[in-house]
Amino acid sequence: MKITEIETIPLAAELQEPIWDAQHYIPKRQALIIKVYTDQGLIGLGESASFGGPIETTKAVIDKELKNYFIGKDPFDVERLWDDVYKGTVQHGRRGIVIAALSGIDIALWDLIGKATNKPVYKILGGYRDEVEAYASSGFYSEGRGLPQLAHMMETYVKEGFKTVKMKVGGMSAKDDLKRVQAVREAVGDEIGLAVDANSNWDLPTALWMAKQLEPFNIKWIEEPLMADDVTGTAKLANSTVIPIAGYEQDVTRYAFMELIKNQAVYYLQPDAIWAGGISECKKIAALALANHLAIMPHVFSSGVCLAANLHFIASTANAHLLELDRNENPLRDELIHHSLIHENGRIKLPDSPGLGIELNEEVIRKYTVS
Ligand SMILES: [Mg+2]
Repeated sequence: MKITEIETIPLAAELQEPIWDAQHYIPKRQALIIKVYTDQGLIGLGESASFGGPIETTKAVIDKELKNYFIGKDPFDVERLWDDVYKGTVQHGRRGIVIAALSGIDIALWDLIGKATNKPVYKILGGYRDEVEAYASSGFYSEGRGLPQLAHMMETYVKEGFKTVKMKVGGMSAKDDLKRVQAVREAVGDEIGLAVDANSNWDLPTALWMAKQLEPFNIKWIEEPLMADDVTGTAKLANSTVIPIAGYEQDVTRYAFMELIKNQAVYYLQPDAIWAGGISECKKIAALALANHLAIMPHVFSSGVCLAANLHFIASTANAHLLELDRNENPLRDELIHHSLIHENGRIKLPDSPGLGIELNEEVIRKYTVS
C-alpha cells in the first residue's frame, strides 16, 4: 500500500456562549482534520492540534512541508516515517507546531493500518481494556455563570453517571476560586472525584498556598498549576502536597515528558495524541511513565477524531487512568463523526470496527470548513 495524497481540512465552529479558562478566551472551536489517501482506496483519518494559533499555520506545515515525507511511502512504516520527519525538521521542529502537524498524520497512519488489517487500532497496539472510564471536563468561566449555575452544571454530570469531574481555577483571585471549588464540592457530594485545572496561571507561591487550601476539599488532582517550563517549581509543589499533580498538556514528545518524570514533578502525565507526537509518541511516553510507576491521563479537548485517537491510546495502555471527556459546547466533537462516541454512566465502549472506528459526516465538514 502506498500513500498518494494528504488532505488537510480546517474546521471552525462559533460558540453560542464563549467560555474561558485562566489563560484562554474561547469564542470558537477549531480542528484541523487530516485525510491520508492510498492507492488501495483506503483513507486514514487524523487530527493535528492547532491550539493557541491560527489553524492555517499548522495546515501550511503539512501542505508545504511534511506531506513530502509521506507521498509514495507505505503507511505501515509509521515508526520510520515519524523518525524521518523528526530528524528532517529538527532545526525548526522538535516542539510545537511541527510535532502537532506530525501528530495528525501519525494518527491517520494508525487508522490506515487498522483498516488494512481489519482490526481496531487499540487491538493492534495491544488491547488492554474494551471500555474506558471518562471524567466530565467542564466548569469553565462564562458570562453569567455564577456559583449556583456552576454548581448546578457540575451536578448534572454526576447525575449522568460520571464519578469524576473537573473544573477550572486560576482565572480569579485565589479566594474567589476557592469559593467556586467549595460550591462545586457541596453540589457533587463527597463521593465524587473533583479535580481542578489552573491552566498554568499560578506562580509557585500561589500554587503552594492554594494546594494547602484545597486539601480539605479532597481534590483528586491539580492540573497545570504552573508554567509548563517550570519543572522544578512543579516538583517543589508536588513535594509539598498530598494532592497529585497533573500536567503538562502543552508538552510534546518523549523528551519533554522525560523532564517531568526525571524531576518527579507530576503523577499524571497528560500527552494528547493530536499534539504530543501522535499515537506512536504517546505510547513511548506511556512506557516511560510505566517504568517510573506514573499514570497517563491524556488531554482531550477537540474534535471527535481527537477523542477517538486518545480513546484507542488509553484502551491500549496499562497505566492509563481516565479519559478527558470535554462537556462544553462543541459541534466538531458531537456532530463531526457518525455514531458519536457517547458515554454511558461516564464510560465509553471502544468501537469494534477497523481503524479508529469512526466515519466523518461530510455534510458537517462542508458546514464548518473555513476557506
Ligand atoms: Mg487542562
